[in-house]
Amino acid sequence: MGYGLRKRVLVTGGAGFLGSHLCERLLSDGHDVICLDNFFTGTKDNVIHLLDRPHFEILRHDVTFPLYVEVDEIYNLACPASPIHYQHDPVQTTKTSVHGAINMLGLAKRIKAKIFQASTSEVYGDPKVHPQVEGYWGHVNPIGLRSCYDEGKRCAETLFFDYRRQHNLRIKVARIFNTYGPRMHPNDGRVVSNFIVQALRNQPITIYGGGSQTRSFCYVDDLIEAFVRLMDTPDDFTGPVNVGNPNEFTILELATKVIELTGSRSELSYKPLPSDDPTQRQPDISLAKSAMDWEPAVPLATGLQRTIAYFDELLGRTPVG
Ligand code: NAD
Ligand code: UDP
Ligand code: UDP
Repeated sequence: MGYGLRKRVLVTGGAGFLGSHLCERLLSDGHDVICLDNFFTGTKDNVIHLLDRPHFEILRHDVTFPLYVEVDEIYNLACPASPIHYQHDPVQTTKTSVHGAINMLGLAKRIKAKIFQASTSEVYGDPKVHPQVEGYWGHVNPIGLRSCYDEGKRCAETLFFDYRRQHNLRIKVARIFNTYGPRMHPNDGRVVSNFIVQALRNQPITIYGGGSQTRSFCYVDDLIEAFVRLMDTPDDFTGPVNVGNPNEFTILELATKVIELTGSRSELSYKPLPSDDPTQRQPDISLAKSAMDWEPAVPLATGLQRTIAYFDELLGRTPVG
């Protein structure tokens, strides 16, 4: 890409799982990238390989505080994403989503930047409409253990649309469904990382509840492609738009696949189901298909193999847990 097309892009939460892949992608597309992170759940290790790139810089900052930089585009990803992490300090989780959104929107307003919000399928709560379409308003407990995350993200969406209506901001809101891949945290309790780590160690695979609850897992490269495409849609397209893989699996099916692909001797071990755990989740991605010409390309088995290879190396290097 020529110099004239180089954009300055801010990625909040850039040292996290998704953020680090996004930084990598934006750099390879020829942009200047500022990776902002407070390193709560993210780590420098996720972006260490980018540090010698002249168009990459890291900013240690917390999005709940104001920020003054000059960029063309903002991807707002800062927020702990796994239940263990976001429930560790729930008040901070809500602050990160709400104050973080206000600060990043205030920044976007001042510098007239285009701004992307990493929203979530959790805005649908334990959904009563299946698969989930963007027009569904959701079924969310406002006072439960997941509420700091769910309601924080819902409020952030409200703020994005109000800044658009009041200040004419260019906004892009993506509702992200379960995503997996290299650089997931090995011990943040998410199902794909848990199962792979347990299988690689031949430890029991922990199935919460009966294992008949479903999720639809998207490989990280597919998701990042959707982010970039969404940012490039015309200004009148704001979303919210579902991004995720519509292939739905039960948790038991996932466990079986992971055992098979790792050749593990692990057995299944049944544990209580956490409260407010959604029973079904599957995105309807018709809107992403029509507006962004996007759909996932990586099948579960292929994505799992790549993720298993990552964890295999990581576990060989550093003991976790
Ligand atoms: P992650 O925890 O790996 O990344 C989040 C990053 O934000 C971390 O690097 C963390 O240190 C940083 N952060 C947290 N609070 C911050 C603060 N106050 N100030 C600055 N930085 C802060 O999670 P992820 O999976 O990469 O998720 C990225 C975004 O995507 C999150 O907003 C999450 O809600 C959203 N999302 C992810 C998924 C998924 O399946 N991974 C699904 C839905 C939505
Ligand atoms: N803000 C920021 N960077 C900027 C501009 C604003 O962090 O470059 C923050 C600012 O601290 C404010 C928030 O964004 O609290 C919302 O800004 P806005 O202009 O919408 O509201 P106001 O400043 O009137 O409160
Ligand atoms: N889960 C499980 N065993 C684990 C971790 C998670 O059975 O070791 C289940 C969990 O109860 C949920 C699903 O897997 O039904 C997905 O959990 P995760 O925390 O990955 O994501 P989320 O619930 O936010 O979709």
